[in-house]
Amino acid sequence: MEQLLEKYYRPKLPHIWCPGCGNGIVTAAIVRAIDKLGLDQDKTTIVSGIGCSSRASGYLNFDTLHTAHGRALPFATGIKLAKPDHKVLVITGDGDATAIGGNHFIHAARRNIDLTVIVYNNNIYGMTGGQYSPLTPQMARATTAPYGNIDRAFDLSELAKGAGATFVARSTTYHAKQLAELVAKGIAHEGFAVVEALTGCPISYGRQNKLSKPAALLAWQRDHTVPVEAAARLKPEQLAGKIKIGVLHQETAPEYSAEYGKVIKQAMGGRS
Ligand code: SF4
Repeated sequence: MEQLLEKYYRPKLPHIWCPGCGNGIVTAAIVRAIDKLGLDQDKTTIVSGIGCSSRASGYLNFDTLHTAHGRALPFATGIKLAKPDHKVLVITGDGDATAIGGNHFIHAARRNIDLTVIVYNNNIYGMTGGQYSPLTPQMARATTAPYGNIDRAFDLSELAKGAGATFVARSTTYHAKQLAELVAKGIAHEGFAVVEALTGCPISYGRQNKLSKPAALLAWQRDHTVPVEAAARLKPEQLAGKIKIGVLHQETAPEYSAEYGKVIKQAMGGRS
């Protein structure tokens, strides 16, 4: 781990995250995936939006952009079109990706542009004080829903798949090893890849929902998830309340930056 710290992190630590926050585990999974694939640090760009999780880009020793709230995907799209040989990773939170940036999320998925989006899903707006997000479970409490949230939550992975993402996977901070493997698979996939990382926020979510102990959040992840292969053998009643983890969807489709390159070539009269 010390070698990974030296190679992939900027000397800006310590970080701003609260003790027991799961964001460090997700960030470490991303670093392990990058290291496993042996990506060129000069050709790997990391873009983030706004929120607790999106601070991660500032700690990582790559070309990084910390952008406006919800707008990481438009920035990442521009980078990928300008530098198609670069690997572009996007770090975003549940509110950033599916509320403020929801429109960008579905259209980036529809285009199948070669980006790997890691959504740190802690079910809440952590940085701004615990307001509910589109991924806050129904009847969970938030500062903006003190009697319980009556909105139905998105299933992020189903949303990504329905919008056209060609790689969709989900894991948790409890399953940190699997999470790193799924991020690596997402990066290796040519097309729009979404990895949903269920992560714990003991402060803004946990305190309002009897999960203020980091160990309790990890235990919740352990007890409420089921590997997608095992889920296929379970009856609907056995699956009630369970979240599937693993690779949930993978297909091949034309990749947007390659198609865009063809249009440029055509417009240039065949010259590249
Ligand atoms: S508010 Fe929650 S998500 Fe933000 S740093 Fe603290 S524990 Fe982590």
